[in-house]
Amino acid sequence: MFLTISTTGSPERPATDLGFLLHKHPGKAQSFSTSHGTAHVFYPEATAERCTAGLLLEVDPVALVRRGQGKGRGGTPDAALAQYVNDRPYAASSLLAVALSGVFRSALAGQCTARPELTDEVRPLRIEIPALPARGGADLVHRLFGPLGWESVTATPVPLDETFPGWGDSRYVRLVLEGELRLSDALRGLYVLLPVLDDAKHYWIASDEVDKLLRAGEGWLAEHPESGLITSRYLARHKRLTQNALERLELVRLAEADGSEVEEIDNAVDESRDTEEKPVPLAARRREAILAALRDAGAARVLDLGCGQGQLVQALLADPAYTEIVGVDVSVRALNVAAKRLRLERMGERQSSRVRLTQGSLAYTDKRLVGYDAAVLSEVIEHLDPERLPALEYAVFGSARPRTVLVTTPNVEYNVRWETLPAGHVRHGDHRFEWTRAEFRAWAGQVASRHGYTVAYVPVGDDDPEVGPPTQMAVFTQATGTQATGTRTTDTLATGTRTTDTPKEGEAA
Ligand code: SAH
Repeated sequence: MFLTISTTGSPERPATDLGFLLHKHPGKAQSFSTSHGTAHVFYPEATAERCTAGLLLEVDPVALVRRGQGKGRGGTPDAALAQYVNDRPYAASSLLAVALSGVFRSALAGQCTARPELTDEVRPLRIEIPALPARGGADLVHRLFGPLGWESVTATPVPLDETFPGWGDSRYVRLVLEGELRLSDALRGLYVLLPVLDDAKHYWIASDEVDKLLRAGEGWLAEHPESGLITSRYLARHKRLTQNALERLELVRLAEADGSEVEEIDNAVDESRDTEEKPVPLAARRREAILAALRDAGAARVLDLGCGQGQLVQALLADPAYTEIVGVDVSVRALNVAAKRLRLERMGERQSSRVRLTQGSLAYTDKRLVGYDAAVLSEVIEHLDPERLPALEYAVFGSARPRTVLVTTPNVEYNVRWETLPAGHVRHGDHRFEWTRAEFRAWAGQVASRHGYTVAYVPVGDDDPEVGPPTQMAVFTQATGTQATGTRTTDTLATGTRTTDTPKEGEAA
C-alpha cells in the first residue's frame, strides 16, 4: 500500500517545508510499527522546488489475522478474510488510513511545533495512490473528493491484468488529487474517505469511531453532499452509530448556519427506510413530501417562507416546472448561507431570473408576497412565539393568500422515539412549542375555516402506529369561490366559524 504527497515551492518558500509539516525529516527514511504491519516514510525527492514524501505500508497478514481473532469475532476469521489478506499488501485501504493517522498524527491535527506558521498555509499539493480499492468506481471517487476543494481529481481504473486488457478493469483506481489546500485538510479528507471507498466490513467499529469521524470531518463533512453515504460507510453501516453521527452533523450544520446553540436532532435518520447504502435524513424526506405536494398542486410560482439555508429553494430550482421561486427569511445570516449554497453570484441569467432571496418577517403583511401559486412553511411556525401566530396566520392566509399553503411542524408525540432526546425536551433550542397531532389539527382546522381553505394532513417519515410520524404536514387549498377576507378583525381571528367546505378536523380532504 503506497501513497505519495508532493508539493512544489521556491527558494523563499521551499517545498521541503513539507518535512516540517509531516514531522518527518526529508533526509532520512524512517520506519514505524503499526498494529497491522510496518509503515515506512521516505522522500524520493526533496529540493526547494519539489518535495515528495512516500508512505509505504507493509502489511503483516499474520498480525492482521491474529488481531481479528483477538478482537472477539468468535475466534474464527470471517469468510471475507482470505480475500482481504490477499489484496491488502498492495491496495491502499482503511489500513493505510490507520497508518496515516498514526504516522502523521500532528500533521492531521494541523499542528507543527517547529514551524507553527506553516500549518495554516495553503500549498500546491499532489497526492497519488497507485492502487486504491474503490467500491462505487471512479464516479464515486469524484463525488467524494470533488467537494473537498481539489482542483483536479483523476481516478483511472486499473485493468485486472495489464497483459489481458480483455479481462476488463479491477475494482482499483489510480487516484491523483491536485490542488491548493492546507495539508491537514487534505490528510483529514483522505483519512475519512479511504475507508469509505474501501468499504470493507473487516474493521472493528468502536463507539469512539463517531468522535474520530467528526473530528476528521470538521469543517467539511457537515456540508458534503455525500455526508450520508460517507457516514454510513465509514461506520461500516452500523445503524445506531450512523444515526448518532448524522444527528451530530446536523447540529454542526445548524450551529454554522445561525451561530446559535442548537439542540436539533431533527435530521436524524428515519429508521423506517432501511436503505443500507445511504440513510435518508428526515429533512430530505420532508423535502420530498413538500415537492410531491407542490407537484400535485400544479404550482409554478412558489414562496418558501422561512427558507433558512435554502435547501428547498435549491431543490425547486433544479426543476424547470418552477418558474419563480422566492425564499423569505427573517435571518440575514441564513439568507447569506442560502445565497452561497445556490451560488447566486455565479448563476447564469436564466437561472437567476427564476429565484430571489429576500429578508422579511412573517409576522407582518408584505405586499410582495401576494399572488403566488403556493407557499411553503417548512418547520417555521414552531419558531414563533404562540402569541405571534395569529399575525403569521393573517400575513399568509389573509394577505398573501396563495392558492396552496404547505405547513410542516414536528409532532411532539414522536419525541419519545428519538433515542438521543432527553424526556420532555423539544427538538431544537429555538422551538417555542411543539404540537401533538391533535393540537396541530385544531390550529390548522381553524386557520382553514377562518380564511376559506380546505386542509388535508400528510404524515412525513415513519408513521408510527402509536405516536404518529416525526413530522406532520398540513396541505391547505383555497376553497373555490371563497373571497379573501381582506380586512383583519380581532373577531375573525379569535373565533372564526367553520365553513361547510372545510373538512372536519382530522379528516383528509
Ligand atoms: N424552512 C427551512 C428552515 C426551517 S428553520 C427548513 O425546513 O429547513 C426556521 C426558519 O424560520 C429559520 O431560518 C428562521 O430564521 C425563520 N424564521 C423564524 N421566524 C421567522 C419570521 N418571523 N419570519 C421569517 N422567518 C422566520
